[in-house]
Amino acid sequence: MERIRKEFPNLPDRLLGLGEMAENLWWSWHPAARMVFKSLNRQAWKENLHNPDKTLKELPPERLAEAAKDPDFLRHYDLVLSQFHKYLEKGLCSMLSTVCERDTPGIAYFSAEYGLHHSLPFYAGGLGFLAGDFIKECSDLQVPLVAVGFMYPEGYVLQRIREDGWQENFDQPLDREAAPINRVLDTNGEQVVVKVPFIEPPIYVSVWKVDVGRVPLYLLDTDIEINDPWNRSISSRLYAGDIEQRLRQEIVLGIGGMEVLEHLGIKHSILHLNEGHAAFALLERIRDKVEAGHSFDEARQTVGDTTIFSTHTPVKAGHDVFPFELMGKYFQDYCSTLGLQHDTFLQLGVHPDEPQSGFNMTAFVLRMAGHLNGVSRRHGEVARKMWKNLWPGVDEDKVPIDYVTNGVHVPTWIEPKMLLLFNKYLGPDWLDEHNNPYIWELVDEIPDKELWDTHMWLKIKLIDAIRERARRRWIDDRLNPSLMMSGGTLLDPTVLTIGFARRFTTYKRADLILYDMERLKKLLIDRWQPIQIIFAGKAHPADDPGKRILQRIVNVARDPEYGGRIAFVEDYGEQFAQYLVHGVDIWLNNPLPPMEACGTSGMKAGLNGVPNLSILDGWWHEGYDGRNGWAFGEESTESNRDRTDAEAIYRLFEEKIIPLFYQSGNHEISQEWVSIMKESMKICGSRFSARRMVIDYITKFYVKALQKRET
Ligand SMILES: *Cc1c(COP(=O)(O)O)cnc(C)c1O
Repeated sequence: MERIRKEFPNLPDRLLGLGEMAENLWWSWHPAARMVFKSLNRQAWKENLHNPDKTLKELPPERLAEAAKDPDFLRHYDLVLSQFHKYLEKGLCSMLSTVCERDTPGIAYFSAEYGLHHSLPFYAGGLGFLAGDFIKECSDLQVPLVAVGFMYPEGYVLQRIREDGWQENFDQPLDREAAPINRVLDTNGEQVVVKVPFIEPPIYVSVWKVDVGRVPLYLLDTDIEINDPWNRSISSRLYAGDIEQRLRQEIVLGIGGMEVLEHLGIKHSILHLNEGHAAFALLERIRDKVEAGHSFDEARQTVGDTTIFSTHTPVKAGHDVFPFELMGKYFQDYCSTLGLQHDTFLQLGVHPDEPQSGFNMTAFVLRMAGHLNGVSRRHGEVARKMWKNLWPGVDEDKVPIDYVTNGVHVPTWIEPKMLLLFNKYLGPDWLDEHNNPYIWELVDEIPDKELWDTHMWLKIKLIDAIRERARRRWIDDRLNPSLMMSGGTLLDPTVLTIGFARRFTTYKRADLILYDMERLKKLLIDRWQPIQIIFAGKAHPADDPGKRILQRIVNVARDPEYGGRIAFVEDYGEQFAQYLVHGVDIWLNNPLPPMEACGTSGMKAGLNGVPNLSILDGWWHEGYDGRNGWAFGEESTESNRDRTDAEAIYRLFEEKIIPLFYQSGNHEISQEWVSIMKESMKICGSRFSARRMVIDYITKFYVKALQKRET
């Protein structure tokens, strides 16, 4: 409490609980908690981008004093605070009760990115949201887990579209003091700083913490005085472009991250590596055992038995490969502490298909970890094929890479109005037991009109938000009028609306629907049954091909030929994603198969009653059931892929989707359409939730690995 008093000097004693709640991201997936903060001052809440920590610090003391005497406010405050305290009471997931103790974190989870909330810019895209949703669900399910990642002070790269449609980037440094993160302090009240072992010249990291419900997330930060400038910038931003700096990032995350847990006295029994970036954490565990007197092979066996590795992409650039000389520079001495010859060590990271290319992080961790998985059924197959030569003589279908399909954290991604509707028809306990498939059958009890009205309300809210953004740019930056149009000012809520938003990387083929502009134009500007498309997404600052695709879309969107029915909304991030996945009529996805390991944004849409139109890749391969949306792309061959896929999309719109949507005229509900919406909700809610995902990890891997732990 003293700490909270110091942190929020303006808070009256009666409201100290607000400070407690502001410091735990629990509020981010509990709408009632957000309402308490918002009701203090709507304007401040909005201006501080829904960040309660910042809102509390900026509110005048008089307003807080007034709230402390307002019975209406206090009623809500007391209730929510009691719910928060109840949530934090210690418990242990029943599925783990025989293999785990209640008070020790059994599982250490490492990831280079976490997508938790827009006030914490520690993500680039899907991988980050997956990790964020994963730890939120572990908190809900009382899985004893501790998470480790990076604090990227320059995490946010803002996107602005130039007059010529080209993407420009601006850095927006994180204000550490106003973000919902805390310094981890030692007994003297100083921030904990840890030296990364065995790396010379030394690298130091300071430690921050975010409480994600019951799960602590420790964040490493190298931007401290004691480091020389080159070291200070290690954690500046996600995935450094320079190869040596990238290697140093991964050393800091894996080896430094383990050292931080050790330093803080956080015991864990098993390790889960979310993608290969943190794979050196596994080495550090081996070194620990070798130091305690085991041989390398014994240590390798025990560590392997207790390590889970999830691979997340078939895209080659997603797998880091470091030149051998560079590895030598950092690992020559480290190897001897493992009792290994340097060459033997390097061999552990060789990809048999390209042995000269360097030390492949994914090959390394696939060899070393005992529990391996891809992130959808299809991706499991793709990964077994891709990596089969690591297991010479083993048939492809026997390659030991299993799968756990990704899922989305339902409380985070269900829209609050939709949540209320579900409370009414699925029963007040539905959220607590949302992995019970029978609950989802009750979706059929929602009256069509109520569901449709809720959807329309969300669509209008989305379009309002887009116009408001455009208006701000018009006022603040005197934006070129044609960019105002492409920004979405002419969108119409009665029109069938397609959403396409994700990172602008080439394999995602954002411009595929523009393949035949004449054919598309007919659909866009049809007098009676038009369609409109909302695009959003960022290209990586170094990805020129991605930026060219984006530029093409912006320039088509501002062309009067297409009637303002294509919009590109700048600066896609968590906040706008929420509006978009809740408010469009169809979610479109057309990556080049088999590149999409899973994809999760379509699950967020489907959960909220937005059907998917997607190529049969990633999760849609197992999610599509003929009644919850539309699928294409099975018949295409490699050489004419873009054309056949684009044609399949046009045909679906012309023959199925548009007639169905407008079946009963522009302002009426089409019953058949609503039944597709309902089927989407049922399938996504029951089978593609983070809850189902975490339970799969527990039953497939965690229980087995925990049985093998040493103490
Ligand atoms: C869910 C989400 C993603 C992931 O998108 P996919 O392309 O479907 O994997 C990316 N960015 C944001 C902001 C998200 O919310």
